[in-house]
Amino acid sequence: MQKDQLLNRRRALITGAAVLGAAGTAGVLVTSGGETPARPAVPAAGAQARRALRPSAYRLQPLTGYGPPRTAPARTLVRRAPILRVPGRGRTMVLTFDDGPDPRYTPQVLDTLAHYDVRAMFFVCGEMAVRNKDLLARMADEGHVVGNHTWSHPLLTRLSRAQIRSQMTRTSEVIEDAYGERPQWFRAPYGAWNRAVFQIGAELGMEPLAWTVDSRDWTTPGTRTIVGRIEKGAAPGVVVLSHDAGGDRSQSVGALRRYLPQLLDSGYHVSVPRRRLM
Ligand SMILES: [Zn+2]
Repeated sequence: MQKDQLLNRRRALITGAAVLGAAGTAGVLVTSGGETPARPAVPAAGAQARRALRPSAYRLQPLTGYGPPRTAPARTLVRRAPILRVPGRGRTMVLTFDDGPDPRYTPQVLDTLAHYDVRAMFFVCGEMAVRNKDLLARMADEGHVVGNHTWSHPLLTRLSRAQIRSQMTRTSEVIEDAYGERPQWFRAPYGAWNRAVFQIGAELGMEPLAWTVDSRDWTTPGTRTIVGRIEKGAAPGVVVLSHDAGGDRSQSVGALRRYLPQLLDSGYHVSVPRRRLM
């Protein structure tokens, strides 16, 4: 590898734009860029990458997706199963919120996360994102990670490849426009994955992330029940599924205000995953 390429890679790493999918490439980076900012405590993307790298510059030399940049990492691997939990040092947990953004609930979720200085992941639907671009901009400013949850939340396994591609591509485009970066993660609605979904997701430079603990908050079982499920499921590397849209989510909002401080008091580090650790 040329020295200037290495420097570029290191710079990309320092900005937080760690977009590496292939383990082999990640190994090169880990050894070449052991800087402190690359620790898991730093959000993988979002505000930091956005501030350090103007969107226009990002588009000229994409680090992921279709572009053929000279220093690009290897293509995202096509997986046979989604990622269910996130490796990391210590007691790290990841909170994910699906189906939004919804102006009734997402701002309250963001307020609570900001209050505790915690970063989370939002798997947004394109049809919601396009109407609430300001909320995606806020997610970027506050360091959260936005993932692709399709355009209209269909059961992807019943769609043709062309329809799956359209659902995912349109959503990534809206996210790039409103959030400032193309998403590096995607999640199939209803957890319904198939080979086409994994292939198209990888073509678009995204890793498939499922979850470890399902709060089943969408059944509105009561705030106490949601809190109880998440506290019972808490463990290092756990990815929690909740919802900030798709119905009345006031229980999800209320539960977050209770379980988040309790997780932090229990010594959990609530954060977002980095692609290079996968
Ligand atoms: Zn969903």
